[in-house]
This record gives sequence, C-alpha cells and structure tokens, in this order.
Amino acid sequence: MGSLEIRQFMCLNDNFGVLAHDPETGATFAVDVPDADAVMSELQAAGWKLTHILITHHHADHTQGLAALKARTGAFVIIPRKSSDRVGPFDQKVDDGDVVPFGSDEIRCIATPGHTLDEISYWLPGSGVAFTGDTLFAMGCGRLLEASPEVMWASLEKLVEKLPSDTRIFCGHEYTLANARFAVSVDPANAALADRLAEVEALRAAGKPTLPTTMALELQTNPFLRVHDAGLQDAIGLAGVPAAEVFAEVRRRKDSF
Ligand code: ZN
Ligand code: FE
Repeated sequence: MGSLEIRQFMCLNDNFGVLAHDPETGATFAVDVPDADAVMSELQAAGWKLTHILITHHHADHTQGLAALKARTGAFVIIPRKSSDRVGPFDQKVDDGDVVPFGSDEIRCIATPGHTLDEISYWLPGSGVAFTGDTLFAMGCGRLLEASPEVMWASLEKLVEKLPSDTRIFCGHEYTLANARFAVSVDPANAALADRLAEVEALRAAGKPTLPTTMALELQTNPFLRVHDAGLQDAIGLAGVPAAEVFAEVRRRKDSF
C-alpha cells in the first residue's frame, strides 16, 4: 500500500469533497468540486498545493466549483470523455482503461455508466483507494437518471471484479443512513447489515462521516451487490431470478422507499 494521505470533508448539503496527497512528491488531487471555497480552505488547512482535479460526472453538485478552483490553483483537470461538451475547463479527457500517472502511483479510469452515461470511477491500485462518485455508495448505488438497470448492474459488477476487497472506497454523498434503512427492508435476515445499520446510526448521531467504506463491507451489506443472495431474493419474492432482474427490482423499490 502506498502512503496516500486523504482528507474528506462535507460540501453543500450532503456532498463529499475529497483531497488525496502523495507526501513523497507533493502531488495532490481533488475528486469533484462541489464548492471551490471549501476545497481551498481544506488545502490551506493541510498545507497542500493542488496539482490535479478529477471529475466523476457532469452533475452540477460535482462540477460547479471547477472553473473557480482551476483558476485559483492551475491544477490539471481530468474529466470523463463523455462529459466534455458539458464540463470545463479541462486538460485531459479520459475513458475506460485509461491510466494517468500520479505521484508514485497511478490513477486507473473505470467507466461506470448508470447514474449518468459519462460517469468514471477512479482507482489507485498502489494506494488501495477508489473514488466511485455517484455510482457505488455505502449500501447503495446512484439513481438511474440516464441509463437502464442493465447498464448500472454491469458497472457495479465491473467494480466488484476489479477492486480488491480491502480497497477503501470514497463516494460522492453521505447517503449511508437512508441507504442502510432501505437495505434492511430488502435483506432483513442479513446480520452483518443489521450490525452496520446500528454503527451508522451511532456515527450519524455523533455527526461523523460513514465513509470511506471497503469493497469487502459492501459485498456483505450492499443490497445492490447482493442480488445473487438467496436470502435477499427470497425476501423480495424473486428466488432463482437472474441477478440483473433482481437488481432492477431492488433499484425500483429504492426509488419509491
Ligand atoms: Zn450525480
Ligand atoms: Fe451527486
């Protein structure tokens, strides 16, 4: 594991700002820019100089501070190729499989369409961290605003396949408590999920963030990754149904929960 230092902070209502810093080279990136002032304050508090900005998708709550932050720091801006007509300014467009050197590690780009069509997740394998934007959340996944359930399911399967189980995962929003309450409704016999709900309630009551999560924890407790599970399928009356169809039903239920 590399020695990437990470600071996570709240922006707007429930967006996360994230800064990651390689102490050996001084390279520092921000993931998304919900609020340029919040990112600048965090940089000052840490004493870090911003070198890169990574954008996960085109929504305003992830990009509205981009122009101001670029103007104030001159950081190199990386955006999804499919956002390039909507997001700027930028220096490089990336797509699935692209690799960007960063400090003593590298940033691997994984296309994860579903919430939006442009969404890219960023993974630094040497540091064991990933940033999944509004694709994968703790015990949840993004709403399907631009794509079918099949597309999102394929993206989640891709993350499960690529990310080692001890990968620390940072997400775009603090949605964890609401996600956990829904998760229990479709996966009521899952003891690990019941334990996690109690932990998350305690963290939120104390005003603390519930992220990062890990792939291992998501595989145990995220209903959108557990659509193969016999207990979950039974609980929603879909025993033996293909995973992609179970995923679509779980997503439908979450939309009206
Ligand atoms: Zn979004
Ligand atoms: Fe968002």
